Amino acid sequence: MKKYIYADNAATTAIDENVLQSMQQYLRNEYGNASQPYSFGRTAKKAINDSRSVIASCIGAKAEEIFFTSCGTESDNWVIKNSFPYSSIITSCIEHHAILNACKAVSNNTEVVKLTVDRSGLVSLRDLDEALRNTVDDSRVLVSIMTANNEIGTIQPIKQLAEISHSHGAIFHTDAVQAVGHIKINVDEMGVDMLSASAHKFNGPKGIGFLYVRKGTAISPFIDGGLQENGMRAGTENVASIVGMATALKNNTNMLEASSKYIYELETRLIQRLEASDVEYIRNGSINHIPRNISISFKNSDGEMILHRMDLKGICISTGSACDSVRTQISHVIKSICVDPDYANGTIRISLGKNNTFEEVDTIAKELIGIVHSSCSHK
Ligand code: PLP
Repeated sequence: MKKYIYADNAATTAIDENVLQSMQQYLRNEYGNASQPYSFGRTAKKAINDSRSVIASCIGAKAEEIFFTSCGTESDNWVIKNSFPYSSIITSCIEHHAILNACKAVSNNTEVVKLTVDRSGLVSLRDLDEALRNTVDDSRVLVSIMTANNEIGTIQPIKQLAEISHSHGAIFHTDAVQAVGHIKINVDEMGVDMLSASAHKFNGPKGIGFLYVRKGTAISPFIDGGLQENGMRAGTENVASIVGMATALKNNTNMLEASSKYIYELETRLIQRLEASDVEYIRNGSINHIPRNISISFKNSDGEMILHRMDLKGICISTGSACDSVRTQISHVIKSICVDPDYANGTIRISLGKNNTFEEVDTIAKELIGIVHSSCSHK
Protein backbone atom coordinates (compact mmCIF):
# COMPACT_ATOMS: atom_id res chain seq x y z
CA MET A 1 0.00 0.00 0.00
CA LYS A 2 1.23 3.47 -0.86
CA LYS A 3 2.51 5.27 2.24
CA TYR A 4 0.63 8.50 2.86
CA ILE A 5 1.26 11.19 5.39
CA TYR A 6 -2.19 11.40 6.89
CA ALA A 7 -3.03 14.86 8.22
CA ASP A 8 -6.83 14.84 7.99
CA ASN A 9 -7.65 13.45 11.43
CA ALA A 10 -10.63 15.78 11.85
CA ALA A 11 -12.26 13.94 8.91
CA THR A 12 -11.58 10.49 10.31
CA THR A 13 -8.88 8.62 12.22
CA ALA A 14 -6.97 5.36 11.97
CA ILE A 15 -8.39 2.60 14.12
CA ASP A 16 -6.19 1.65 17.12
CA GLU A 17 -4.69 -1.85 16.97
CA ASN A 18 -6.30 -3.01 20.23
CA VAL A 19 -9.65 -1.64 18.99
CA LEU A 20 -9.46 -3.93 15.99
CA GLN A 21 -8.54 -6.85 18.22
CA SER A 22 -11.40 -6.15 20.64
CA MET A 23 -13.85 -6.18 17.73
CA GLN A 24 -12.65 -9.33 16.00
CA GLN A 25 -13.96 -11.63 18.70
CA TYR A 26 -17.51 -10.29 18.15
CA LEU A 27 -17.30 -10.52 14.37
CA ARG A 28 -15.84 -14.03 14.20
CA ASN A 29 -16.91 -15.99 17.26
CA GLU A 30 -19.32 -14.20 19.59
CA TYR A 31 -21.74 -13.22 16.83
CA GLY A 32 -24.90 -14.06 18.80
CA ASN A 33 -27.89 -11.71 18.72
CA ALA A 34 -27.81 -9.68 21.93
CA SER A 35 -31.62 -9.82 22.17
CA GLN A 36 -31.73 -13.65 22.43
CA PRO A 37 -31.95 -15.14 25.93
CA TYR A 38 -29.61 -18.13 25.39
CA SER A 39 -26.08 -17.84 26.72
CA PHE A 40 -24.56 -17.24 23.24
CA GLY A 41 -26.73 -14.10 22.99
CA ARG A 42 -26.09 -13.13 26.60
CA THR A 43 -22.33 -12.84 25.89
CA ALA A 44 -23.08 -10.21 23.24
CA LYS A 45 -25.54 -8.47 25.58
CA LYS A 46 -22.92 -8.34 28.32
CA ALA A 47 -20.37 -6.86 25.88
CA ILE A 48 -22.87 -4.12 24.99
CA ASN A 49 -23.64 -3.38 28.63
CA ASP A 50 -19.97 -3.30 29.60
CA SER A 51 -19.20 -0.99 26.67
CA ARG A 52 -22.05 1.33 27.68
CA SER A 53 -20.60 1.56 31.20
CA VAL A 54 -17.08 2.25 29.88
CA ILE A 55 -18.33 5.02 27.58
CA ALA A 56 -20.48 6.52 30.34
CA SER A 57 -17.54 6.58 32.76
CA CYS A 58 -15.33 8.32 30.14
CA ILE A 59 -17.77 11.26 29.94
CA GLY A 60 -19.05 11.32 33.54
CA ALA A 61 -22.49 9.96 32.63
CA LYS A 62 -24.66 7.06 33.82
CA ALA A 63 -24.78 3.94 31.65
CA GLU A 64 -28.54 4.28 31.04
CA GLU A 65 -27.99 7.77 29.60
CA ILE A 66 -25.95 6.43 26.63
CA PHE A 67 -27.81 5.43 23.44
CA PHE A 68 -25.89 3.83 20.59
CA THR A 69 -26.46 5.26 17.10
CA SER A 70 -24.86 4.68 13.70
CA CYS A 71 -22.84 7.94 13.63
CA GLY A 72 -22.60 11.54 14.76
CA THR A 73 -24.99 12.63 12.01
CA GLU A 74 -27.68 10.26 13.34
CA SER A 75 -27.19 11.50 16.92
CA ASP A 76 -27.58 15.11 15.74
CA ASN A 77 -30.65 14.29 13.64
CA TRP A 78 -32.26 12.48 16.56
CA VAL A 79 -31.97 15.58 18.72
CA ILE A 80 -33.16 18.08 16.13
CA LYS A 81 -35.98 15.94 14.68
CA ASN A 82 -37.29 14.88 18.09
CA SER A 83 -40.95 14.19 17.50
CA PHE A 84 -42.00 16.25 20.53
CA PRO A 85 -41.42 19.29 18.34
CA TYR A 86 -39.54 22.26 19.69
CA SER A 87 -41.16 25.63 19.10
CA SER A 88 -37.71 27.17 18.62
CA ILE A 89 -34.19 25.90 18.03
CA ILE A 90 -31.28 28.24 18.65
CA THR A 91 -28.03 27.12 17.07
CA SER A 92 -24.91 28.72 15.55
CA CYS A 93 -24.07 29.49 11.94
CA ILE A 94 -20.87 27.40 12.09
CA GLU A 95 -22.44 24.05 13.08
CA HIS A 96 -21.77 20.92 11.04
CA HIS A 97 -24.29 20.26 8.26
CA ALA A 98 -25.65 17.37 10.34
CA ILE A 99 -27.17 20.07 12.56
CA LEU A 100 -27.76 22.81 9.98
CA ASN A 101 -29.53 20.60 7.44
CA ALA A 102 -31.56 18.82 10.13
CA CYS A 103 -32.68 22.28 11.31
CA LYS A 104 -33.60 23.15 7.73
CA ALA A 105 -35.72 19.98 7.56
CA VAL A 106 -37.81 21.02 10.60
CA SER A 107 -37.93 24.73 9.81
CA ASN A 108 -41.52 24.63 8.47
CA ASN A 109 -42.83 23.94 11.97
CA THR A 110 -40.00 25.19 14.13
CA GLU A 111 -38.44 28.62 14.35
CA VAL A 112 -34.67 28.27 13.77
CA VAL A 113 -32.37 31.04 15.01
CA LYS A 114 -28.70 30.91 13.96
CA LEU A 115 -26.34 32.88 16.16
CA THR A 116 -23.42 34.58 14.46
CA VAL A 117 -19.85 34.10 15.70
CA ASP A 118 -16.90 36.46 16.11
CA ARG A 119 -13.67 36.39 14.09
CA SER A 120 -12.35 33.50 16.19
CA GLY A 121 -15.54 31.49 15.79
CA LEU A 122 -16.96 32.10 19.27
CA VAL A 123 -20.67 32.43 20.00
CA SER A 124 -21.51 35.44 22.18
CA LEU A 125 -23.13 34.65 25.57
CA ARG A 126 -25.04 37.91 25.34
CA ASP A 127 -26.43 37.01 21.88
CA LEU A 128 -27.68 33.68 23.23
CA ASP A 129 -29.32 35.39 26.20
CA GLU A 130 -31.03 37.87 23.89
CA ALA A 131 -32.20 35.17 21.48
CA LEU A 132 -33.68 33.23 24.40
CA ARG A 133 -35.47 36.36 25.68
CA ASN A 134 -37.06 36.73 22.25
CA THR A 135 -38.62 33.25 22.34
CA VAL A 136 -42.15 32.80 23.70
CA ASP A 137 -42.11 32.21 27.48
CA ASP A 138 -43.99 28.94 27.57
CA SER A 139 -42.32 27.53 24.45
CA ARG A 140 -40.20 24.40 24.20
CA VAL A 141 -36.78 25.69 23.21
CA LEU A 142 -33.69 23.72 22.24
CA VAL A 143 -30.24 25.28 22.14
CA SER A 144 -27.68 23.29 20.13
CA ILE A 145 -24.11 24.62 20.03
CA MET A 146 -21.14 22.47 19.04
CA THR A 147 -18.35 21.86 21.57
CA ALA A 148 -15.57 22.29 18.99
CA ASN A 149 -15.72 23.29 15.36
CA ASN A 150 -14.65 20.75 12.75
CA GLU A 151 -12.88 23.27 10.49
CA ILE A 152 -11.25 25.81 12.78
CA GLY A 153 -11.21 23.83 16.05
CA THR A 154 -12.62 26.66 18.21
CA ILE A 155 -13.92 25.41 21.57
CA GLN A 156 -17.13 27.10 22.74
CA PRO A 157 -17.79 28.08 26.38
CA ILE A 158 -20.26 25.21 26.75
CA LYS A 159 -20.75 25.45 30.53
CA GLN A 160 -21.78 29.12 30.33
CA LEU A 161 -23.94 28.57 27.23
CA ALA A 162 -25.73 25.69 28.98
CA GLU A 163 -26.25 27.79 32.14
CA ILE A 164 -27.81 30.63 30.17
CA SER A 165 -30.04 28.19 28.29
CA HIS A 166 -31.22 26.58 31.52
CA SER A 167 -31.92 29.94 33.13
CA HIS A 168 -34.53 30.42 30.38
CA GLY A 169 -35.89 26.87 30.74
CA ALA A 170 -34.36 25.69 27.46
CA ILE A 171 -32.81 22.26 26.78
CA PHE A 172 -29.12 22.29 25.86
CA HIS A 173 -27.50 19.94 23.33
CA THR A 174 -23.92 19.95 22.12
CA ASP A 175 -22.49 18.30 19.02
CA ALA A 176 -19.23 17.07 20.57
CA VAL A 177 -18.21 14.89 17.61
CA GLN A 178 -14.86 16.68 17.23
CA ALA A 179 -14.25 16.96 20.96
CA VAL A 180 -14.97 13.55 22.49
CA GLY A 181 -11.71 11.63 22.90
CA HIS A 182 -9.66 14.79 22.33
CA ILE A 183 -10.45 17.10 25.25
CA LYS A 184 -11.84 16.33 28.70
CA ILE A 185 -15.59 15.76 28.51
CA ASN A 186 -17.71 15.63 31.64
CA VAL A 187 -21.41 16.06 31.01
CA ASP A 188 -22.09 17.24 34.57
CA GLU A 189 -19.31 19.81 34.60
CA MET A 190 -20.42 21.02 31.17
CA GLY A 191 -24.07 20.98 32.30
CA VAL A 192 -25.36 19.63 28.98
CA ASP A 193 -28.65 17.75 28.58
CA MET A 194 -27.64 15.94 25.39
CA LEU A 195 -24.36 15.30 23.61
CA SER A 196 -23.50 13.69 20.24
CA ALA A 197 -20.34 11.68 19.53
CA SER A 198 -18.89 9.47 16.81
CA ALA A 199 -16.30 6.68 17.18
CA HIS A 200 -14.39 7.19 13.92
CA LYS A 201 -13.25 10.61 15.14
CA PHE A 202 -11.42 9.07 18.11
CA ASN A 203 -9.61 6.09 16.59
CA GLY A 204 -12.64 3.82 16.70
CA PRO A 205 -14.57 2.18 13.84
CA LYS A 206 -16.82 3.97 11.35
CA GLY A 207 -20.60 3.49 11.48
CA ILE A 208 -21.05 3.78 15.23
CA GLY A 209 -21.71 6.71 17.54
CA PHE A 210 -23.73 7.59 20.59
CA LEU A 211 -26.13 10.12 21.97
CA TYR A 212 -25.95 11.04 25.65
CA VAL A 213 -29.36 12.01 27.04
CA ARG A 214 -29.49 13.25 30.65
CA LYS A 215 -32.03 11.30 32.71
CA GLY A 216 -35.32 13.22 32.74
CA THR A 217 -34.74 14.97 29.38
CA ALA A 218 -37.79 14.47 27.17
CA ILE A 219 -36.85 12.85 23.88
CA SER A 220 -38.85 10.52 21.66
CA PRO A 221 -37.63 7.23 20.10
CA PHE A 222 -35.75 7.80 16.85
CA ILE A 223 -36.16 4.42 15.15
CA ASP A 224 -39.24 2.33 15.88
CA GLY A 225 -39.08 -1.46 15.91
CA GLY A 226 -37.71 -3.79 18.56
CA LEU A 227 -36.85 -2.93 22.12
CA GLN A 228 -33.11 -2.38 21.63
CA GLU A 229 -31.64 0.71 23.31
CA ASN A 230 -34.50 0.73 25.78
CA GLY A 231 -37.01 1.06 22.92
CA MET A 232 -35.49 4.37 21.86
CA ARG A 233 -33.44 3.24 18.86
CA ALA A 234 -34.53 -0.08 17.40
CA GLY A 235 -32.37 -2.37 15.27
CA THR A 236 -30.08 -5.32 15.98
CA GLU A 237 -27.06 -3.93 17.77
CA ASN A 238 -23.69 -3.57 16.06
CA VAL A 239 -21.92 -5.39 18.91
CA ALA A 240 -18.39 -5.42 17.46
CA SER A 241 -18.47 -1.70 16.70
CA ILE A 242 -19.95 -0.85 20.09
CA VAL A 243 -17.11 -2.79 21.75
CA GLY A 244 -14.58 -1.09 19.43
CA MET A 245 -15.97 2.36 20.25
CA ALA A 246 -15.67 1.73 24.00
CA THR A 247 -12.09 0.45 23.62
CA ALA A 248 -11.13 3.48 21.51
CA LEU A 249 -12.67 5.99 23.89
CA LYS A 250 -10.98 4.36 26.86
CA ASN A 251 -7.62 4.46 25.03
CA ASN A 252 -7.95 8.15 24.17
CA THR A 253 -9.33 9.13 27.58
CA ASN A 254 -6.46 7.39 29.38
CA MET A 255 -3.91 9.11 27.13
CA LEU A 256 -5.66 12.48 26.88
CA GLU A 257 -3.07 14.63 28.63
CA ALA A 258 -0.03 13.02 27.00
CA SER A 259 -1.46 12.98 23.49
CA SER A 260 -2.80 16.55 23.57
CA LYS A 261 0.61 17.76 24.75
CA TYR A 262 2.26 15.82 21.92
CA ILE A 263 -0.18 17.07 19.27
CA TYR A 264 0.26 20.69 20.42
CA GLU A 265 4.03 20.21 20.05
CA LEU A 266 3.51 18.95 16.49
CA GLU A 267 1.26 21.94 15.81
CA THR A 268 3.81 24.40 17.23
CA ARG A 269 6.52 22.90 15.02
CA LEU A 270 4.35 23.30 11.92
CA ILE A 271 3.51 26.92 12.75
CA GLN A 272 7.18 27.67 13.48
CA ARG A 273 8.12 26.33 10.03
CA LEU A 274 5.49 28.55 8.39
CA GLU A 275 6.59 31.57 10.44
CA ALA A 276 10.20 31.04 9.37
CA SER A 277 9.13 31.09 5.70
CA ASP A 278 7.96 34.16 3.81
CA VAL A 279 4.51 32.81 2.85
CA GLU A 280 1.67 35.15 3.77
CA TYR A 281 -1.00 33.41 5.81
CA ILE A 282 -3.48 33.84 8.62
CA ARG A 283 -4.38 31.23 11.22
CA ASN A 284 -8.13 30.83 11.76
CA GLY A 285 -9.94 29.95 14.97
CA SER A 286 -9.49 30.68 18.63
CA ILE A 287 -6.40 30.18 20.84
CA ASN A 288 -8.62 27.81 22.78
CA HIS A 289 -8.97 25.07 20.18
CA ILE A 290 -8.92 21.28 20.13
CA PRO A 291 -5.48 19.79 19.65
CA ARG A 292 -5.16 18.87 15.95
CA ASN A 293 -7.27 21.34 13.92
CA ILE A 294 -5.08 23.88 12.13
CA SER A 295 -7.01 26.08 9.71
CA ILE A 296 -4.77 28.33 7.63
CA SER A 297 -5.63 30.79 4.86
CA PHE A 298 -2.89 31.70 2.39
CA LYS A 299 -2.92 35.05 0.58
CA ASN A 300 -3.93 34.96 -3.11
CA SER A 301 -3.96 31.18 -3.14
CA ASP A 302 -6.41 28.36 -3.83
CA GLY A 303 -7.16 25.79 -1.16
CA GLU A 304 -8.36 23.18 -3.67
CA MET A 305 -5.19 23.50 -5.71
CA ILE A 306 -3.06 23.15 -2.55
CA LEU A 307 -5.03 20.04 -1.52
CA HIS A 308 -4.51 18.35 -4.91
CA ARG A 309 -0.83 19.23 -5.11
CA MET A 310 -0.27 17.98 -1.56
CA ASP A 311 -2.06 14.78 -2.60
CA LEU A 312 0.42 14.34 -5.44
CA LYS A 313 3.15 14.52 -2.79
CA GLY A 314 1.36 11.79 -0.81
CA ILE A 315 0.00 14.11 1.90
CA CYS A 316 -3.68 14.10 2.91
CA ILE A 317 -5.04 17.44 4.11
CA SER A 318 -8.42 19.08 3.74
CA THR A 319 -9.75 22.43 2.62
CA GLY A 320 -11.99 25.07 4.07
CA SER A 321 -13.61 25.47 0.69
CA ALA A 322 -15.43 22.82 -1.33
CA CYS A 323 -14.96 22.93 -5.07
CA ASP A 324 -17.81 22.30 -7.44
CA SER A 325 -17.13 21.86 -11.13
CA VAL A 326 -17.78 25.51 -11.88
CA ARG A 327 -16.23 27.48 -9.05
CA THR A 328 -14.68 27.17 -5.65
CA GLN A 329 -17.07 27.83 -2.78
CA ILE A 330 -15.88 29.24 0.49
CA SER A 331 -17.18 27.13 3.39
CA HIS A 332 -19.96 28.46 5.63
CA VAL A 333 -17.50 28.47 8.56
CA ILE A 334 -14.85 30.53 6.75
CA LYS A 335 -17.59 32.93 5.56
CA SER A 336 -19.03 33.21 9.07
CA ILE A 337 -15.72 34.21 10.64
CA CYS A 338 -15.27 36.84 7.89
CA VAL A 339 -11.85 35.77 6.61
CA ASP A 340 -10.31 38.52 4.44
CA PRO A 341 -11.39 37.86 0.81
CA ASP A 342 -7.72 37.90 -0.33
CA TYR A 343 -7.12 34.91 1.93
CA ALA A 344 -10.47 33.04 2.14
CA ASN A 345 -10.03 31.12 -1.10
CA GLY A 346 -6.63 29.86 0.03
CA THR A 347 -7.92 28.08 3.12
CA ILE A 348 -6.77 24.60 4.09
CA ARG A 349 -7.20 22.42 7.19
CA ILE A 350 -4.35 20.32 8.51
CA SER A 351 -5.52 18.06 11.31
CA LEU A 352 -2.79 16.20 13.13
CA GLY A 353 -3.19 13.15 15.34
CA LYS A 354 -1.41 11.00 17.87
CA ASN A 355 0.06 8.85 15.05
CA ASN A 356 1.82 11.75 13.28
CA THR A 357 5.55 12.32 13.78
CA PHE A 358 7.79 15.41 13.85
CA GLU A 359 9.40 14.22 10.60
CA GLU A 360 5.98 14.13 8.94
CA VAL A 361 5.25 17.64 10.15
CA ASP A 362 8.55 18.83 8.67
CA THR A 363 7.62 17.25 5.32
CA ILE A 364 4.13 18.77 5.42
CA ALA A 365 5.60 22.23 6.11
CA LYS A 366 8.27 21.91 3.41
CA GLU A 367 5.86 20.76 0.70
CA LEU A 368 3.20 23.28 1.70
CA ILE A 369 5.59 26.22 1.59
CA GLY A 370 6.92 25.04 -1.79
CA ILE A 371 3.42 24.71 -3.27
CA VAL A 372 2.23 28.09 -1.96
CA HIS A 373 5.41 29.77 -3.28
CA SER A 374 5.13 28.27 -6.74
CA SER A 375 1.40 29.02 -7.04
CA CYS A 376 1.89 32.66 -6.01
CA SER A 377 4.66 33.15 -8.56
CA HIS A 378 2.16 32.19 -11.33
CA LYS A 379 -0.25 34.96 -10.35
N1 PLP B 1 -20.56 16.90 13.75
C1 PLP B 1 -19.31 17.31 13.57
C2 PLP B 1 -18.82 18.51 14.31
C3 PLP B 1 -18.45 16.63 12.70
O1 PLP B 1 -17.20 17.05 12.52
C4 PLP B 1 -18.96 15.51 12.01
C5 PLP B 1 -18.11 14.80 11.02
O2 PLP B 1 -17.26 15.38 10.38
C6 PLP B 1 -20.28 15.11 12.25
C7 PLP B 1 -21.06 15.82 13.12
C8 PLP B 1 -20.85 13.90 11.57
O3 PLP B 1 -20.30 12.74 12.14
P1 PLP B 1 -20.37 11.32 11.38
O4 PLP B 1 -19.31 11.35 10.33
O5 PLP B 1 -20.10 10.31 12.43
O6 PLP B 1 -21.74 11.21 10.82
